[in-house]
Amino acid sequence: MAPALRRVTFLQGHAFDSPVQHATMRVVAADMRQLMTVRPDQSAQTLSTFGAAARLLQGDDPLHIRLHRLFDLLRDALHHRDARLTCWLQSARPGSTRQQYFSADAWPYRWDDSLARTVAREGVIARRVIVLGGGAGGGQLPAVRAAYLGAPIMWGGRLWGIFELRADHADGLRAATDELIGGLLPQLAAVIAREGERLASLPVGERAGDTPTGLSLRAQDKQQLVALNDSLDEAMDLHALLSLLLRRALEVSGAEAGAVALVDHERGELVLHTFEGFGDEAGPNLQSGPRQRWSLETGLAGRAAQSGRALLVRDVTVEPGLRGASAGLRAELAAPIMLGGRTSAVIILSSPRSNAFGEDELAFVRALCARAAPPLSRALHYQAAIESALYLGQVFSSLPTGLALIDIHGKVLRSNPAWDSLWGLHGRENRESFHVSLDLIAHLLPRLHDPLSMTEFCDAMQRSPTKDLITTVRLTHPAQDLEVRSVPTHDSKDRIIGRLWAVSDVTRERESDRMKSEFVAIVSHELRTPLTSILGYTELLLNRDFSAEERHQFITTVYTEAGRLAHLVEDLLGMSRIEAGKVKLNRWVISLTNVVYELTTQLNTSLINHRLLIDITSEIPPIYADRDKVKQIIFNLLTNAIKYSPSGGEIQLAIHEARPDELPPGHPAGRWVLVSVRDQGIGIAKDDLPRIWERFYRVDNTNTRRIGGTGLGLSITRGLVELHGGQIVVESELGQGSRFFFTLPVSNELARK
Ligand code: ADP
Repeated sequence: MAPALRRVTFLQGHAFDSPVQHATMRVVAADMRQLMTVRPDQSAQTLSTFGAAARLLQGDDPLHIRLHRLFDLLRDALHHRDARLTCWLQSARPGSTRQQYFSADAWPYRWDDSLARTVAREGVIARRVIVLGGGAGGGQLPAVRAAYLGAPIMWGGRLWGIFELRADHADGLRAATDELIGGLLPQLAAVIAREGERLASLPVGERAGDTPTGLSLRAQDKQQLVALNDSLDEAMDLHALLSLLLRRALEVSGAEAGAVALVDHERGELVLHTFEGFGDEAGPNLQSGPRQRWSLETGLAGRAAQSGRALLVRDVTVEPGLRGASAGLRAELAAPIMLGGRTSAVIILSSPRSNAFGEDELAFVRALCARAAPPLSRALHYQAAIESALYLGQVFSSLPTGLALIDIHGKVLRSNPAWDSLWGLHGRENRESFHVSLDLIAHLLPRLHDPLSMTEFCDAMQRSPTKDLITTVRLTHPAQDLEVRSVPTHDSKDRIIGRLWAVSDVTRERESDRMKSEFVAIVSHELRTPLTSILGYTELLLNRDFSAEERHQFITTVYTEAGRLAHLVEDLLGMSRIEAGKVKLNRWVISLTNVVYELTTQLNTSLINHRLLIDITSEIPPIYADRDKVKQIIFNLLTNAIKYSPSGGEIQLAIHEARPDELPPGHPAGRWVLVSVRDQGIGIAKDDLPRIWERFYRVDNTNTRRIGGTGLGLSITRGLVELHGGQIVVESELGQGSRFFFTLPVSNELARK
């Protein structure tokens, strides 16, 4: 056995294309028989099959007959369902001709060429369980789990072909041991080599599938192209088209690996689009992440793209400036698909067999590229259209402006999420048919400040379809100002097909406009009133003589009005300092009882028409605060209580340490003193409650108009309370009175921090 093994090993390491190959293979076959015979665990049945196979293959019948007989013979031993042999026969022209032989009694399931390519590339026997048929790829055939075996017919460092078997159940092909298959492979190599030699010795015209001269297409390749016509014309999707081209190029050329790359002329790069057969290391995941790119200056594909010509290299590993896309690949073919005189894409084919591609393959791939140009152009345009639609779709959905495309009847065709959220349309049912003039107005009716203006806007849209229209829609509960623009939309023939509505929330802008004009109105009013009094009284005092008592009264008025002016200026400055974050607290441990005492003395004159009840528990702890600011806070609340209560009303000032359950929700924990000012005055309407803290906001009713004010006091008050870390809250009912209460930190609590 040892000499036989040595001979096999020796032959494996050497090139195998000498004229004596036939004889050599006979020896090898004999060696293999010998190897088999001495294995004690081989059954007599297998050995006799093996011997019969060797005899059969050495016969003189045409190759396909010998192979059919072989497949039949093997079926008894291996129980396969069908078999295929792919081989590359020598031809007189450069390259080789691929031939495929199938077992008779064909199984309707297609052979998966990618499995064969993997076997060729990896060079070892592969066994798999595969699923055939069923689902989209499998046509009408039911799905079956099948066993697959693929064996590379390697000899003398060269790949001669691939031998494949399929069994119709997943456990099949057990009998096809590596020894048996391994023993058959050298015999198959010998048969293929002999057939190649026989073909090469025939006169040119007699060779099957040969073409006389030049790069003309073989008849079967022409048929392949014609068969492809419909699929090429139907393929709109770029990926589907490129995959189809690649698959067909791989099938016809017999290449083990291939790819299609698109040319990015702007960056001078090739962008890998689809690939098959390269090892995992070669291809990036096409489903995610950026696509692999490489410069047009590198590789055969780059050369083909730049020259606009199909190129063929037998061995990239020895060609200067080139290298294989993946280990083990040698022959490479690259062919450009040209559009408008420029290369748009390149089909790249690779094989570990250096003689894999010849003129036939080159001719077919060139013809395929020429045929693929019009569908590629269409697919690229289609892709560009899809991408720009996607891009615009993303912009449309992510804009904060509410957008809706509306047909000429006012029906919403498409809208973005901002549209729904601005109008509060979320969760609305029956979205199929939604008209702005009917459904939108009906939906907004409870909140529309002026329903008529919205209806008029929709009418104007109908009356003047060509005009750009704009309006502001005021909503209440909660208050919101929405600016609506409506512009006509056109089709490709410039005919009006509807409108685009763009809605944006302008509440803040309107609010600041309102604040600005209120500021001007209030400040000028608050300035003018005291100034008029001061000027009037001083003029009187200058021009006429008055009694001492009258003079005193006039000067007191002038003094009070000047004080009012000073107060206004103080409020304005205080407000802007708080807003600018410039107010610094001068904090000390202070007693609120003393502050209240000072305040009541100060307020004595204002309180002549009201009763002030002070309720301070004896044990209120000292607070850590700015004395003047605390005074200002309580002063503002008390003066408001006085201002907004009728004469004789009772005002209550209560101070005690807050129980935890008295603190407003979300209030910081710890020890706090709670100060509350309650009145029995005009109260505040529910809708106005959240707004009284805004700068210059004054509740607008006959009472407040008569009373006068700047709308700054509460805004300053809240700013000061918050600077101390506390919170201020109001509870009020119209006509019943109000209660403002706020918190200030107990001193030792903060002092410890
Ligand atoms: P001003 O009193 O100068 O108008 P404020 O900021 O102090 O400004 O108050 C804002 C608004 O809140 C007032 O215009 C008034 O309508 C309302 N308001 C404040 N305090 C009271 C209160 N105690 N009772 C009723 N309404 C009040």
